[in-house]
Amino acid sequence: MNHGGDTIFGKIIRKEIPAQIVYETERVLAFRDINPVAPVHILVIPKKPIESVATAVGTDAEVLGELMLAAAEVARGEGLEPGGYRVVTNIGTDGGQTVFHLHLHVIGGRPMSWPPG
Ligand code: AMP
Repeated sequence: MNHGGDTIFGKIIRKEIPAQIVYETERVLAFRDINPVAPVHILVIPKKPIESVATAVGTDAEVLGELMLAAAEVARGEGLEPGGYRVVTNIGTDGGQTVFHLHLHVIGGRPMSWPPG
């Protein structure tokens, strides 16, 4: 099993630094964002150190599917389903990505606008 790459999220996967973990399977981990932008802000990540969806490959398809299902499961667990919520992944500098380990942001608990800035 892969135990994460050389990012802050790799350290969280390896439990070298603390995080508020809300969901964990063999291949996926979800924890609260340290700087939440909404009442609920959870990051869902693969334990495999994929940089972003842009660098994912065909053999990652199963874990990418698991990530989406985990995001929905986490949102359900946080009580976000009635009002709805947002799942977003930032890619590269223009996309606003700051941690280069693929993550889905699950954001909810307040109304959101579109398009993002
Ligand atoms: P992005 O800008 O899409 O790459 O998102 C990275 C996210 O990781 C940001 O929302 C940060 O607040 C969050 N973050 C960075 N370090 C940590 C950490 N140690 N624990 C939890 N969330 C973190």
